[in-house]
Amino acid sequence: MFNQVFIQGLIASAFAGLVTGLGGFMIFLKRRYSQKDIDFMLNLAAGVMLSASFFSLLVPAMGKILTFDPDVHVAGFWYALAVFTGVALVWILNAILPHEHNNMGHHGPHFSLRAAWLFIIAITLHKLPEGLAVGVAFSAEDFMNPDSLVIGIALHNIPEGLTIAISLVAANCSKLKAATTALLIGLVQPLGAIIGLLTMGFSDKIVPLGMAMAGGTLLFVVINEILPETYGTKQTERSAFAVFVGFIFMTYLKIVLD
Ligand SMILES: [Zn+2]
Repeated sequence: MFNQVFIQGLIASAFAGLVTGLGGFMIFLKRRYSQKDIDFMLNLAAGVMLSASFFSLLVPAMGKILTFDPDVHVAGFWYALAVFTGVALVWILNAILPHEHNNMGHHGPHFSLRAAWLFIIAITLHKLPEGLAVGVAFSAEDFMNPDSLVIGIALHNIPEGLTIAISLVAANCSKLKAATTALLIGLVQPLGAIIGLLTMGFSDKIVPLGMAMAGGTLLFVVINEILPETYGTKQTERSAFAVFVGFIFMTYLKIVLD
Protein backbone atom coordinates (compact mmCIF):
# COMPACT_ATOMS: atom_id res chain seq x y z
CA MET A 1 0.00 0.00 0.00
CA PHE A 2 2.60 2.54 1.07
CA ASN A 3 4.81 1.84 -1.92
CA GLN A 4 7.04 4.20 -3.85
CA VAL A 5 4.21 5.59 -5.97
CA PHE A 6 2.24 6.38 -2.81
CA ILE A 7 5.16 8.23 -1.22
CA GLN A 8 5.96 10.16 -4.44
CA GLY A 9 2.32 11.11 -4.96
CA LEU A 10 1.99 12.23 -1.35
CA ILE A 11 5.15 14.36 -1.47
CA ALA A 12 4.18 15.91 -4.82
CA SER A 13 0.67 16.78 -3.66
CA ALA A 14 1.97 18.13 -0.35
CA PHE A 15 4.37 20.35 -2.30
CA ALA A 16 1.58 21.60 -4.57
CA GLY A 17 -0.71 22.16 -1.59
CA LEU A 18 1.89 24.10 0.39
CA VAL A 19 2.30 26.52 -2.54
CA THR A 20 -1.15 27.80 -1.48
CA GLY A 21 0.61 29.11 1.62
CA LEU A 22 3.16 30.87 -0.59
CA GLY A 23 0.26 32.64 -2.29
CA GLY A 24 -1.20 33.45 1.12
CA PHE A 25 2.01 35.07 2.32
CA MET A 26 2.09 37.22 -0.84
CA ILE A 27 -0.42 39.36 1.06
CA PHE A 28 2.60 40.95 2.74
CA LEU A 29 4.10 42.02 -0.62
CA LYS A 30 1.61 44.72 -1.45
CA ARG A 31 -0.41 47.04 0.75
CA ARG A 32 -3.54 46.50 -1.29
CA TYR A 33 -4.28 44.27 -4.25
CA SER A 34 -6.84 45.65 -6.69
CA GLN A 35 -9.66 43.51 -7.99
CA LYS A 36 -7.95 43.77 -11.41
CA ASP A 37 -4.75 42.21 -10.05
CA ILE A 38 -6.66 39.36 -8.47
CA ASP A 39 -8.81 38.71 -11.54
CA PHE A 40 -5.73 38.64 -13.75
CA MET A 41 -4.00 36.07 -11.57
CA LEU A 42 -7.11 33.93 -11.19
CA ASN A 43 -7.62 33.95 -14.95
CA LEU A 44 -4.03 32.87 -15.51
CA ALA A 45 -4.75 30.04 -13.06
CA ALA A 46 -7.93 29.13 -14.94
CA GLY A 47 -5.96 28.82 -18.20
CA VAL A 48 -3.33 26.67 -16.50
CA MET A 49 -6.04 24.42 -15.08
CA LEU A 50 -7.88 24.11 -18.40
CA SER A 51 -4.70 22.94 -20.11
CA ALA A 52 -3.84 20.59 -17.22
CA SER A 53 -7.29 19.00 -17.16
CA PHE A 54 -7.25 18.35 -20.91
CA PHE A 55 -3.66 17.39 -21.61
CA SER A 56 -2.73 15.75 -18.31
CA LEU A 57 -6.00 13.95 -17.57
CA LEU A 58 -8.76 13.89 -20.20
CA VAL A 59 -6.62 13.17 -23.28
CA PRO A 60 -4.34 10.45 -21.82
CA ALA A 61 -7.41 8.84 -20.19
CA MET A 62 -9.20 8.78 -23.55
CA GLY A 63 -6.31 6.98 -25.24
CA LYS A 64 -6.29 4.31 -22.54
CA ILE A 65 -10.07 3.85 -22.24
CA LEU A 66 -10.40 3.39 -26.02
CA THR A 67 -8.31 0.23 -25.66
CA PHE A 68 -10.87 -1.24 -23.21
CA ASP A 69 -13.35 -2.35 -25.83
CA PRO A 70 -13.09 -2.81 -29.63
CA ASP A 71 -16.48 -1.13 -29.95
CA VAL A 72 -15.86 2.62 -29.86
CA HIS A 73 -19.43 3.21 -28.68
CA VAL A 74 -18.87 1.11 -25.57
CA ALA A 75 -15.49 2.68 -24.85
CA GLY A 76 -16.91 6.14 -25.54
CA PHE A 77 -19.77 5.46 -23.16
CA TRP A 78 -17.39 4.55 -20.31
CA TYR A 79 -15.33 7.64 -20.98
CA ALA A 80 -18.36 9.93 -21.01
CA LEU A 81 -19.75 8.29 -17.88
CA ALA A 82 -16.46 8.79 -16.02
CA VAL A 83 -16.23 12.49 -16.96
CA PHE A 84 -19.89 12.99 -16.02
CA THR A 85 -19.35 11.26 -12.66
CA GLY A 86 -16.51 13.66 -11.90
CA VAL A 87 -18.66 16.68 -12.71
CA ALA A 88 -21.63 15.31 -10.73
CA LEU A 89 -19.48 14.64 -7.66
CA VAL A 90 -18.40 18.27 -7.26
CA TRP A 91 -21.88 19.43 -8.15
CA ILE A 92 -23.38 17.34 -5.34
CA LEU A 93 -20.65 18.42 -2.92
CA ASN A 94 -21.41 22.06 -3.73
CA ALA A 95 -25.13 21.51 -3.29
CA ILE A 96 -24.76 19.86 0.12
CA LEU A 97 -22.26 22.27 1.65
CA PRO A 98 -22.94 25.98 1.99
CA HIS A 99 -20.63 28.24 0.04
CA GLU A 100 -20.60 31.62 -1.58
CA HIS A 101 -18.83 33.23 -4.49
CA ASN A 102 -16.47 36.07 -3.79
CA ASN A 103 -17.79 39.50 -4.67
CA MET A 104 -15.50 41.71 -2.67
CA GLY A 105 -14.54 43.78 -5.71
CA HIS A 106 -17.87 45.51 -6.08
CA HIS A 107 -18.24 46.60 -2.50
CA GLY A 108 -14.74 47.61 -1.56
CA PRO A 109 -13.00 46.09 1.39
CA HIS A 110 -16.14 45.52 3.48
CA PHE A 111 -16.56 41.82 3.54
CA SER A 112 -18.33 40.03 6.34
CA LEU A 113 -16.44 37.28 8.08
CA ARG A 114 -19.28 34.89 7.31
CA ALA A 115 -19.15 35.68 3.57
CA ALA A 116 -15.36 35.33 3.64
CA TRP A 117 -15.62 31.91 5.26
CA LEU A 118 -18.32 30.69 2.90
CA PHE A 119 -16.08 31.68 -0.01
CA ILE A 120 -13.13 29.95 1.63
CA ILE A 121 -15.19 26.80 2.16
CA ALA A 122 -15.79 26.74 -1.60
CA ILE A 123 -12.05 27.03 -2.32
CA THR A 124 -11.22 24.43 0.33
CA LEU A 125 -13.76 21.98 -1.09
CA HIS A 126 -12.47 22.16 -4.62
CA LYS A 127 -8.95 21.46 -3.41
CA LEU A 128 -10.02 17.93 -2.57
CA PRO A 129 -10.73 16.91 -6.21
CA GLU A 130 -7.56 18.73 -7.27
CA GLY A 131 -5.56 16.63 -4.84
CA LEU A 132 -7.45 13.57 -6.00
CA ALA A 133 -6.35 14.31 -9.57
CA VAL A 134 -2.71 14.34 -8.47
CA GLY A 135 -3.14 11.02 -6.66
CA VAL A 136 -4.78 9.47 -9.70
CA ALA A 137 -2.11 10.84 -12.05
CA PHE A 138 0.63 9.25 -9.94
CA SER A 139 -1.20 5.93 -10.09
CA ALA A 140 -1.09 6.24 -13.90
CA GLU A 141 2.67 6.76 -13.97
CA ASP A 142 3.22 3.83 -16.33
CA PHE A 143 1.47 5.58 -19.21
CA MET A 144 1.80 9.26 -18.40
CA ASN A 145 4.07 11.73 -16.66
CA PRO A 146 2.31 13.34 -13.67
CA ASP A 147 4.88 16.15 -13.25
CA SER A 148 3.14 18.73 -15.44
CA LEU A 149 -0.15 18.24 -13.59
CA VAL A 150 1.58 18.77 -10.24
CA ILE A 151 3.29 21.94 -11.49
CA GLY A 152 0.02 23.19 -13.00
CA ILE A 153 -1.88 22.68 -9.76
CA ALA A 154 0.95 24.20 -7.72
CA LEU A 155 0.99 27.29 -9.98
CA HIS A 156 -2.74 27.81 -9.76
CA ASN A 157 -2.54 27.53 -5.97
CA ILE A 158 -0.58 30.80 -5.80
CA PRO A 159 -3.47 33.14 -6.75
CA GLU A 160 -5.90 30.94 -4.83
CA GLY A 161 -3.85 31.23 -1.66
CA LEU A 162 -3.62 34.98 -2.15
CA THR A 163 -7.39 35.21 -2.70
CA ILE A 164 -8.03 33.32 0.55
CA ALA A 165 -5.75 35.70 2.45
CA ILE A 166 -7.26 38.81 0.81
CA SER A 167 -10.81 37.68 1.65
CA LEU A 168 -9.90 37.17 5.30
CA VAL A 169 -8.06 40.49 5.57
CA ALA A 170 -11.09 42.17 3.99
CA ALA A 171 -13.10 40.59 6.80
CA ASN A 172 -10.74 42.15 9.39
CA CYS A 173 -8.42 39.23 10.06
CA SER A 174 -4.73 39.96 10.61
CA LYS A 175 -2.44 39.37 7.63
CA LEU A 176 -0.52 36.68 9.46
CA LYS A 177 -3.65 34.78 10.43
CA ALA A 178 -4.98 35.09 6.86
CA ALA A 179 -1.75 33.79 5.30
CA THR A 180 -1.50 30.93 7.80
CA THR A 181 -5.09 29.94 7.05
CA ALA A 182 -4.22 29.76 3.33
CA LEU A 183 -1.28 27.52 4.19
CA LEU A 184 -3.48 25.15 6.22
CA ILE A 185 -6.18 25.04 3.54
CA GLY A 186 -3.51 23.98 1.04
CA LEU A 187 -3.07 20.79 3.05
CA VAL A 188 -6.48 19.60 1.88
CA GLN A 189 -4.79 18.72 -1.41
CA PRO A 190 -2.53 15.95 -0.09
CA LEU A 191 -5.63 14.61 1.69
CA GLY A 192 -7.38 14.33 -1.69
CA ALA A 193 -4.25 12.77 -3.17
CA ILE A 194 -4.27 10.04 -0.49
CA ILE A 195 -7.85 9.13 -1.47
CA GLY A 196 -6.81 9.01 -5.13
CA LEU A 197 -3.71 6.93 -4.46
CA LEU A 198 -5.55 4.43 -2.27
CA THR A 199 -8.55 3.90 -4.55
CA MET A 200 -6.58 3.59 -7.79
CA GLY A 201 -4.58 0.59 -6.60
CA PHE A 202 -7.35 -1.96 -7.19
CA SER A 203 -7.34 -2.44 -10.95
CA ASP A 204 -5.64 -1.18 -14.10
CA LYS A 205 -8.95 -0.14 -15.58
CA ILE A 206 -9.84 2.09 -12.64
CA VAL A 207 -6.88 4.41 -13.25
CA PRO A 208 -7.88 5.81 -16.68
CA LEU A 209 -11.50 6.02 -15.53
CA GLY A 210 -10.32 7.87 -12.43
CA MET A 211 -8.31 10.25 -14.62
CA ALA A 212 -11.32 11.01 -16.82
CA MET A 213 -13.33 11.59 -13.66
CA ALA A 214 -10.66 13.86 -12.18
CA GLY A 215 -10.54 15.75 -15.50
CA GLY A 216 -14.29 16.31 -15.23
CA THR A 217 -13.99 17.62 -11.67
CA LEU A 218 -11.17 20.02 -12.59
CA LEU A 219 -13.14 21.36 -15.56
CA PHE A 220 -16.13 21.88 -13.31
CA VAL A 221 -14.01 23.76 -10.80
CA VAL A 222 -12.64 26.08 -13.50
CA ILE A 223 -16.00 26.68 -15.13
CA ASN A 224 -18.07 26.96 -11.98
CA GLU A 225 -15.68 28.42 -9.39
CA ILE A 226 -12.77 30.26 -10.99
CA LEU A 227 -14.12 31.86 -14.17
CA PRO A 228 -17.36 33.23 -12.65
CA GLU A 229 -15.30 35.01 -9.96
CA THR A 230 -13.56 37.08 -12.59
CA TYR A 231 -15.90 37.39 -15.55
CA GLY A 232 -18.46 39.42 -13.66
CA THR A 233 -16.26 42.50 -13.56
CA LYS A 234 -16.44 43.62 -17.22
CA GLN A 235 -12.79 42.99 -18.07
CA THR A 236 -13.50 40.23 -20.50
CA GLU A 237 -10.71 41.04 -22.97
CA ARG A 238 -8.11 41.27 -20.27
CA SER A 239 -9.56 38.17 -18.63
CA ALA A 240 -9.54 36.21 -21.88
CA PHE A 241 -5.94 37.27 -22.52
CA ALA A 242 -4.89 35.97 -19.11
CA VAL A 243 -6.75 32.68 -19.61
CA PHE A 244 -4.96 32.09 -22.93
CA VAL A 245 -1.55 33.02 -21.53
CA GLY A 246 -2.09 30.49 -18.74
CA PHE A 247 -3.37 27.86 -21.17
CA ILE A 248 -0.52 28.23 -23.66
CA PHE A 249 2.13 28.41 -20.95
CA MET A 250 0.85 25.22 -19.32
CA THR A 251 0.56 23.42 -22.67
CA TYR A 252 4.17 24.39 -23.47
CA LEU A 253 5.25 23.10 -20.07
CA LYS A 254 3.44 19.82 -20.71
CA ILE A 255 5.27 19.35 -24.04
CA VAL A 256 8.65 20.18 -22.54
CA LEU A 257 8.23 18.01 -19.41
CA ASP A 258 6.96 14.96 -21.30
ZN1 LIG B 1 -8.09 25.34 -7.45
